[in-house]
Amino acid sequence: MSLDAPVTELAGVGEALALKLARLRIVQIADLLFHLPLRYQDRTRITPIGTLRAGTEAVVEGEVSAAEVIRGRRRSLLVRLKDGSGILSLRFFHFSPAQQQQFVKGVQVRCFGEARAGSTGLEIYHPEYRLVQSEAPPVDEHLTPIYPATEGLAQPRLRALIQQALKRLAEAPDALPEWIPATLRQRFRLPGLIEALRYLHEPPPDAPQEVLAAGRHPAQRRLALEELLAHQLSLRQVRLRIQTDGAPGLAGSGHLQARFLTQLPFSLTQAQRRVLDEIGRDLEREVPMLRLVQGDVGSGKTVVAAMAVLAAVAGGCQAAVMAPTEILAEQHFRQFRSWLEPLGIEVGWLAGKLKGKARGDTKAAIADGRAQVVVGTHALFQDDVIFQRLGLAVIDEQHRFGVHQRLALRQKGENGGLTPHQLIMTATPIPRTLAMSAYADLDLSVIDELPPGRTPVHTVAVPDERRTEVIERIRNACAEGRQAYWVCTLIEESEALTCQAAEVTRETLTEALPELQIGLVHGRMKAAEKGEVMDAFKSGELDLLVATTVIEVGVDVPNASLMIIENPERLGLSQLHQLRGRVGRGRVDSYCVLLYHPPLSHHSRERLGILRDTTDGFKVAEKDLELRGPGEVLGTRQTGLAQMKIADLERDRDLLDTVTALATALLEEAPDVAPALIQRWLGDEAGRYGQV
Ligand code: ADP
Ligand code: MG
Repeated sequence: MSLDAPVTELAGVGEALALKLARLRIVQIADLLFHLPLRYQDRTRITPIGTLRAGTEAVVEGEVSAAEVIRGRRRSLLVRLKDGSGILSLRFFHFSPAQQQQFVKGVQVRCFGEARAGSTGLEIYHPEYRLVQSEAPPVDEHLTPIYPATEGLAQPRLRALIQQALKRLAEAPDALPEWIPATLRQRFRLPGLIEALRYLHEPPPDAPQEVLAAGRHPAQRRLALEELLAHQLSLRQVRLRIQTDGAPGLAGSGHLQARFLTQLPFSLTQAQRRVLDEIGRDLEREVPMLRLVQGDVGSGKTVVAAMAVLAAVAGGCQAAVMAPTEILAEQHFRQFRSWLEPLGIEVGWLAGKLKGKARGDTKAAIADGRAQVVVGTHALFQDDVIFQRLGLAVIDEQHRFGVHQRLALRQKGENGGLTPHQLIMTATPIPRTLAMSAYADLDLSVIDELPPGRTPVHTVAVPDERRTEVIERIRNACAEGRQAYWVCTLIEESEALTCQAAEVTRETLTEALPELQIGLVHGRMKAAEKGEVMDAFKSGELDLLVATTVIEVGVDVPNASLMIIENPERLGLSQLHQLRGRVGRGRVDSYCVLLYHPPLSHHSRERLGILRDTTDGFKVAEKDLELRGPGEVLGTRQTGLAQMKIADLERDRDLLDTVTALATALLEEAPDVAPALIQRWLGDEAGRYGQV
């Protein structure tokens, strides 16, 4: 019988139970096998009372020496149990008269529970117990698994179902094929799949419980490895699928690029040049580029993107530049227009808010090729936007862009019969091994150098009781001719409330600092308004800019040397790091003040401490990863990476090199099994990749 069958095929599983199982993502019988225990109980031996320790669970057997109802603050039944090595109390707060009568002096009782230090010495509250008659029942052969459960579905039921699945597996082991070939299993020293599953559902009495609890047993690692392998294979499959399409070869003469560079007020860093070489080599090929450019805030990714865009334009193609938010997109639009229009290149703008005739005009310009470069939000990739000849798509801030969208891009170039090159840029510095796994479909370039003249930002955490002191600090900085930012963080995901708070802050600061010119930008202002305020700040007309986190990206005012971030505990570490990257761009020492609202949780304290002690984006990201986990940091919820069943990108990071090596070996030696592995672990999700 097949393990793909729905769980309802098992004895005693009806619709109601199937629904509960579905909540645990158990749909097919095989899913039961991959539903692994959270932890184990040891009921394989009887522990002498004398060796019992508080805080541990154990099976104990002894003779009742006394039983009485205690009338304290809470009435309870106290049963004294002795076994020759010591004495233990069982305590029941809820009990029936019948129960009370069971515990006659001299009766033998076997029980299981957690020992704790109580008023009578060691006690077990509400143990599971049974009376032992003449013949003692045997103890369990295996450790008892405790599974992730759900309301209305308790352990014994779940355990029985998993036992049924294991029984089926024993009868038909071929129903769960070992897809990783024996040669590779040997080379990478992997236990067998079925062996690993059995071990985890029914560990022997001497199994190392601590290793299991840490998720580091070879059986667990074998399964985690297979899951990570499946994810990596699916990403590589996406890559292969995209790269079977043709792309325009953009060799270009470099003429436009050269003109652009002479127009820049600075020369490129070594790192920028190296990354541009890497991009240039990709663009020359008639295979779609899939490249992730990673660079800390302020490392100069936008110039790199502009150079790639110029290669596309020089090659007679259009380029699209997409940012995740309208504000960021707008900043890019302004930047690209000021760079490219002097070169005679038309830059278009498209966002969700653009409506009516303006939208129609832009779409027409995109369709007939007049708009050589288009900057915008996700709106760029909607179905009704048709490019004449899209050669390059630049996506800023990769971590908010999923694999599905990447695939969807394929269709955008279709009008010209070609798939566009893809250049993805992120400031989230992902540790390399993780990047290789999470983005196995992308090549990686790193801008690991900041432009010269940057000074490290001194970061301090200050409680908001010292607000007036902080305001004095702004007064002093501005008196010396510097400028400052005051950043208001998001209030419970409500943009409206956040903008309101920013308005109030602007008012109170205007009162406190009457001699300063204070501006305000937030997400609810019109584009033109925002633009005016930003320009005024750039030109130095404004001393202080109150802003919501919209300035996280794109703003560049070297004279700004002080940033106050209110309620920094609301933001992720990497985001805070990006924010403070807005200062420290000039020659003077810069400061970032994290104005928190006490009391801080231990966790928040630790996080702000990291920011204070570290200015390196990579290190911040490493810590962020430790504290928040990869799902949050990479924003992988949408790419599906965070939804792994068994593997944990953080805990299993040391497996990632092996995963990459194994994936490569497998694609060489047994490419046919890749789809089966992907299907096993990603199921329908893989199907969705496939349809695009
Ligand atoms: P990010 O990588 O965070 O997107 P930007 O592209 O916004 O960084 O660049 C930050 C600032 O540094 C911009 O003002 C940009 O013009 C400037 N910049 C970029 N490259 C260089 C360079 N090689 N030398 C000096 N300044 C540079
Ligand atoms: Mg940027």
